[in-house]
Amino acid sequence: MGVRMKRLMIGAGLLVAVLAGCSGQKGEIDQDRVTRVITALASDDMRGRDSFTPDGMRAAEFVASEFEDAGLERMDGLDGYLQRFSLWSVAPESVRVTLNGVAYPAEQVAASLGTEVIHWTLGAGPLVTVAGEDESLFQAFRRVRSEESDGILIVPTAQTEMFQRLRGYLSRPGRITDLAAATNLVVVLSDVVEVRDFTIDATAVVSETPLVNVVGVVPGRRTDEQVLFGAHYDHIGIVAPVDGDSIANGANDDASGTAAVVELARHFRAMGTPERTLLFVAFAAEESGGFGSSHFAESIVPDQVVAMFNIEMIGKPAVEGPNTAWITGFDRSDFGPILQNAVEGTEYSFYPDPYPDQNLFFRSDNAVFAQKGIPAHSISTTPIDVDQDYHAVTDEVGTLDLEHLTSTIRAIATGASPIISGDATPTRIVMEAEQR
Ligand SMILES: [Zn+2]
Repeated sequence: MGVRMKRLMIGAGLLVAVLAGCSGQKGEIDQDRVTRVITALASDDMRGRDSFTPDGMRAAEFVASEFEDAGLERMDGLDGYLQRFSLWSVAPESVRVTLNGVAYPAEQVAASLGTEVIHWTLGAGPLVTVAGEDESLFQAFRRVRSEESDGILIVPTAQTEMFQRLRGYLSRPGRITDLAAATNLVVVLSDVVEVRDFTIDATAVVSETPLVNVVGVVPGRRTDEQVLFGAHYDHIGIVAPVDGDSIANGANDDASGTAAVVELARHFRAMGTPERTLLFVAFAAEESGGFGSSHFAESIVPDQVVAMFNIEMIGKPAVEGPNTAWITGFDRSDFGPILQNAVEGTEYSFYPDPYPDQNLFFRSDNAVFAQKGIPAHSISTTPIDVDQDYHAVTDEVGTLDLEHLTSTIRAIATGASPIISGDATPTRIVMEAEQR
């Protein structure tokens, strides 16, 4: 079927898609360019793009140079494409507790700290709370944490086993994005019911890690309606060697999504001024807790973001075969059906996430946006149930199908077009309280 014929059959609404598929046309989505970008990101030189190392920073700078080359504009408030922020690591050093005149041994105390030094005494000290017999330690821990103020939690010795588990967990450094808002919680294993007197001294080593998201904008006619395209550029870095290879290249996870964001940026920039404003973001530190997307989510107005496309692992054909992709949280908004309609009549199709048990909707950068009501979904094609390369040193470009990757980027561009043009607006996501 020729291009002309196809155009007549599927109508002007899909002109974008047809143009995107033709080489040499305006806004062409080009496999060679996609290959160049993914190959650079997944090269051994990038050493697996761990956000907590200079390797992650190098990857971010590479994406920024691609955004610049694509002619993207900067986001308001940023002087470049890099959105800088800090992650604070707080490693507990010592905790000394005296309750009612009795000093407790180290194995009966634990602390979650947000500052270098605390010194508390009764009268000047924080909330004291005693876990009741019918309350599990983790329930009590969550309850005191939710007070959002400093606290002391006394745990009866009947819960020693759970206490030791919590103590092991708290002995690892905590990671905090907002140090000023961080609270301190000291946990003591004790059968004291009434606290008449206490002295608590604790110290921690606080260190700062600079992180960056990479952000670019294609301003639309409507500046207060935005469509967000994102993928995480980081991966897990250097791991235990397998056959002499210790670099987890993260070609599929998620250099493929990052290459897609770069190519979509170039594509939509070349298509002229869109109706809605487009935001392109490569997120830091997804692999270590989604810190990049959490930070970025604080710099947008949720009501203005009409949709978020989170692109995760699209370098390998899905179980349903090439030219298919699945969407997480499919029934949480009508984002999925909008994309399905938009690609109807093309060789590509979208369908619901085939792995609902894996809870993937909550396991990537889209979740923090969905929690704010934004129709934010991950698009993936990875056969995650059988993929031997996931988080392994073998996740290299050679294991991917670059033609499939490119056709998936084209399908996302086509799927997004009615949302970008304002013809379609996905329904908002309503999260049940227990999922927040
Ligand atoms: Zn990923």
